Amino acid sequence: MSLLDKETLWKETLEWLKTEIGEAEFSDWFVDLRYLGSGEGHISVGCPSVFHRDRVKKNYQGRIRERLMEIAGTEIDLKFEVNSKNGEVKASAPQKPTVDVSVETKKEPTAKVVSVEKIKREQHPDLRDDYTFEKYVIGDNNMFASNAALAISKNLGANYNPFFIYGGVGLGKTHLMQAIGNSVHENSKNKVIYVTSEDFLNEYVESVRENTRMSTFKNKFRRANLLLIDDVQFFADKPGVQEELFHTFNALLQAKNQIVFTCDRPPSELKKFETRLLNRFDQGLKVDLQPPRVEIRLAILRAAVKSRGIPIPENVLDFVSKKISSNVRDLVGALNSLIAYAELFKKEVTLEIAQKTLKDVMASAKQSNLSIETIQKVVASHFSISVNDLKGKKRSQNVVFPRQIAMHICREMTEYSSTEIGEAFGGRDHATVLYSLDKIKGRFLVDPNIEPTIENLKRQVKEMATKL
Ligand code: ADP
Ligand code: MG
Repeated sequence: MSLLDKETLWKETLEWLKTEIGEAEFSDWFVDLRYLGSGEGHISVGCPSVFHRDRVKKNYQGRIRERLMEIAGTEIDLKFEVNSKNGEVKASAPQKPTVDVSVETKKEPTAKVVSVEKIKREQHPDLRDDYTFEKYVIGDNNMFASNAALAISKNLGANYNPFFIYGGVGLGKTHLMQAIGNSVHENSKNKVIYVTSEDFLNEYVESVRENTRMSTFKNKFRRANLLLIDDVQFFADKPGVQEELFHTFNALLQAKNQIVFTCDRPPSELKKFETRLLNRFDQGLKVDLQPPRVEIRLAILRAAVKSRGIPIPENVLDFVSKKISSNVRDLVGALNSLIAYAELFKKEVTLEIAQKTLKDVMASAKQSNLSIETIQKVVASHFSISVNDLKGKKRSQNVVFPRQIAMHICREMTEYSSTEIGEAFGGRDHATVLYSLDKIKGRFLVDPNIEPTIENLKRQVKEMATKL
């Protein structure tokens, strides 16, 4: 370990970078960054916007990490926090604020989460303050779901229990679920608990390990008047936590407390779930969210612009609504890049600027129509093997490596889960896929050729997909 503390390391690295890239470029991207603190093996850095962060990550992160490694003699990770100009972290992410300043340096003040001025009940700590009904644009793609959600928020546990919201990525499931939570929390004394399935699982595993805490875990979730469990597909093939969920479920139903789930697919398509749990999902109300049509996309953009108070010309909004059709998350993400641009450079966003700025976003927006098959074809042909080899049982290195690469690309470029990817590779299980993904990840660290190879393959996949 280096004798320098991490803040000095950071400063030295920036000094070096300035000489590498020149004053002008440096001041565009690094003057507004802030050293927030450090933890085990990482440095936390505050960035003024998501846009800014993405650019720094894309263009400089590699060099910075290499340099840090050189000076410190050990690997140091960078964690970026998006913060406002005065250095305070915005209360935007629902998850825990991750800045860890406890370890070495206490010189700088801890980044604080800005509290929202609410006179009535305080903002719920686990819910995003902007995920409200007011900010949810209603169209024919989500009309039924949002009406049901509103009805449930006014009458917990009465008619639709559980309430099961499903749909593809970025279509507004979490927003709608949290809108129920925010509304109930604000307008009543009911206890609202929001958890991602991942956190629910982790807490469950913890409590099993430390046997004594099991009852704390049980009590915690069974005390809710409204329990929101996000992305329940995550419990596939995890019987222990499914059983626990089943009991939690029963306890809540019996006490007429409300449960809401989100899921990336309908219950009928959930595999590796206990039947009794699937039956429970079926008992309540299931609603789906569809991708919005272009008119609704435009309405969402207009609403977002209005609430942010940043003028973006109508022709730009029109352009974005037509170009970004994959889902609402990509749509809002694209708009955020433009807003960040306007703020950063204090310029009006013209159509031309929008076209340039969004090039990257459009290229990186995951292509929902991209099939695993296309990826398999491209990878097989690159390595001069057959698609059947990729799916088959052969374990020779000339097949295993391409197979791992293909799985890695599937994970990066599509929305398929590792279970689904396994199925498409000759019925391999989820654990095998995870193992392969790990292998490739490990190789990134030691093999300088892997990144260009994968980038090249991804380019070919994109080309092939647009031809189809
Ligand atoms: P999911 O949970 O389905 O992946 P999210 O709820 O995270 O999707 O939504 C992604 C982004 O899109 C969020 O920023 C959310 O506020 C926004 N969003 C989704 N649907 C709508 C809508 N109908 N109106 C306004 N914003 C929306
Ligand atoms: Mg979600």
